[in-house]
Amino acid sequence: MDSQQTSPLQELTDHRLTEGGVRLLLKRDDLLHPTVPGNKWRKLLPNLAEARAAGHTALLTFGGAYSHHLRATAAAGRAAGLRTVGVVRGDELRTRPLNASLAQAADWGMEFDFIDRGTWRRRMSAEVLAELRRRHGPAFVVPEGGSNAAGVRGCLPLGRELAGSGADTVCVSVGTGGTLAGLAAGLAPNQRAIGFAALTHAPLADETAALQREAFGRSTGNWRIEDRHCFGGYGRTTPELLAFAAEFEAEHGIALDPCYEAKALSGIFAELGSGEFRRGSTVVMVLAG
Ligand SMILES: *Cc1c(COP(=O)(O)O)cnc(C)c1O
Repeated sequence: MDSQQTSPLQELTDHRLTEGGVRLLLKRDDLLHPTVPGNKWRKLLPNLAEARAAGHTALLTFGGAYSHHLRATAAAGRAAGLRTVGVVRGDELRTRPLNASLAQAADWGMEFDFIDRGTWRRRMSAEVLAELRRRHGPAFVVPEGGSNAAGVRGCLPLGRELAGSGADTVCVSVGTGGTLAGLAAGLAPNQRAIGFAALTHAPLADETAALQREAFGRSTGNWRIEDRHCFGGYGRTTPELLAFAAEFEAEHGIALDPCYEAKALSGIFAELGSGEFRRGSTVVMVLAG
């Protein structure tokens, strides 16, 4: 993906929407890359540019064993000719065969370092970063999820692309809040964003606001976090959620990410007809990946 690329907007035809009197458009950021989520590209591109401008030849970043962001960093580093190091949570994984997600990242050239959970909690401290650089050489450090000021600014065009869409509300699923922070800042004045939390992490709204201040010098008041549809936490699912996603794929031919978009979309459907999504309104759901 180059920085000029935009993703299509598609209207979803579904009897639940017809009955609720709501138009739902899908922002297909999942089509930006064949295997890694589009929002991860948007956040990584400006980080790659900063790394190169600072003369770095390696990227070092963090993630869990199934992290989309680690795979995205491996793919982006490979395309940009930068070495990549993935620091993975859980030193017990060191002696196990790589799962499919990490194996994909390894195929794209990523080297791994598996760290214990205590070190993980201090991963951005000067002390831990110095040790990681000692082991892996000088590297441009990108936080988990690619959510730093540069990454958030990379998601500003996502909001701008939706400013003329006619949407009243833009929904996006939230892991670190970086995508929401950037996109909300790009919306038109009469639009607002709802971030559906994919995990049970209380300070998500504070962290999103902090990311906006870091990226733009202020937090915009046009978004909120909805945490009633996180299905027990990150990576957790229920039979109902999996059935919803399977039915959606059968009907619409779109495979929803069960960690993120399936939760947000089922949340939207659950709240059709409530004050949140009024009859006659137009809603955009961002499919990040
Ligand atoms: C990472 C990711 C998100 C969450 O993005 P944040 O910027 O971390 O909030 C949502 N959906 C998909 C598919 C993702 O990979």
